[in-house]
Amino acid sequence: MIDLRSDTITLPTAGMRQAINDAALGDDVYGEDPTVNRLEELAAALTGKEAAMLVPSGTMGNQVSILTHTVPGTEVIMEADSHIYYYEAAAASVFAGIQPRPLEGNRGSIPAGLVEWAIRADDIHLPPTSLICLENTHNRAGGTIVPLEDMEAIAEVAARRDLPVHLDGARIFNASVASGVAVKDYCSSVTSVQFCLSKGLGAPVGSIVAGPKAFIQAARRWRKRLGGGMRQAGIIAAAGIYALENMVERLAEDHENARYLADGLAALRGIDFNPAEVDTNIVIVKPTGMGVQELGAELQKRGVLTVVIEPDRLRFTTNKEADRTAVEKALQVIRDVLR
Ligand SMILES: *Cc1c(COP(=O)(O)O)cnc(C)c1O
Repeated sequence: MIDLRSDTITLPTAGMRQAINDAALGDDVYGEDPTVNRLEELAAALTGKEAAMLVPSGTMGNQVSILTHTVPGTEVIMEADSHIYYYEAAAASVFAGIQPRPLEGNRGSIPAGLVEWAIRADDIHLPPTSLICLENTHNRAGGTIVPLEDMEAIAEVAARRDLPVHLDGARIFNASVASGVAVKDYCSSVTSVQFCLSKGLGAPVGSIVAGPKAFIQAARRWRKRLGGGMRQAGIIAAAGIYALENMVERLAEDHENARYLADGLAALRGIDFNPAEVDTNIVIVKPTGMGVQELGAELQKRGVLTVVIEPDRLRFTTNKEADRTAVEKALQVIRDVLR
């Protein structure tokens, strides 16, 4: 099977397994796991934030951040196709009691003018705006990079209106490797950031939340409330440190493979797709000749795993478990099916 469903299927490398094996451990709920503490210091330095915290998943990282920034009955601005709006089972409504204010972006980037337009006036009829959420790279838009200037324009609006900004940076390392903009520079335009260790970087579990010291302190209580306090979490953190130190530059290979796949797909009939829209490791196409479920099932039958992006698109995500030869084979299978 050639698995192009996601970059979450990536497995720890031999070096990462060795790092897990060698990790010094303690009880992180007491703040005593030296490996977790080292990962959190490294993550704070990488994002240019005062402090950072390990959480079990990206979803928990986003939700802890929303819970920490907001109070119930307020409104959170987010992109209409963002992970927080689309793929977190309405957690922010259930747990934080916030009302989402979805805004349509352009390739995942919400125009700063639209953000400013959506910020609520002070009126007892209206829910006060409490937070702006951004996503970079943007998953459902196709792994697109939100340009640094766009983030800075929103940061300017947020600062003027005294609002925090949270970045869902599940794939911020993909954005950084592809654009050459440092992770720290992307993060300097936001108050808090969440990024995943468990996607293209190959760690088995874990995400990071980073932000101001007082924010992370408050976020630790929310993590505990949600059951995210972990004991000898250095087992996880060791993989995270290894991922940050050894697996980031390798993301460029995923991007080259996605580019190869995109250029190959662009030449095919039977799909609606613009290869110029591919920025990183995600390629999303819309079949025109056959149904998307049918195409996904046919590819699977021939050994290529993909994900249907409801309602009508198919997603390929390049990842380290599928090398160039595998991607070439996958393209040949897609050619055969669409012929
Ligand atoms: C994967 C992902 C998350 C959450 O990740 P989990 O660890 O699966 O909870 C959040 N945001 C984006 C954009 C993602 O792609």
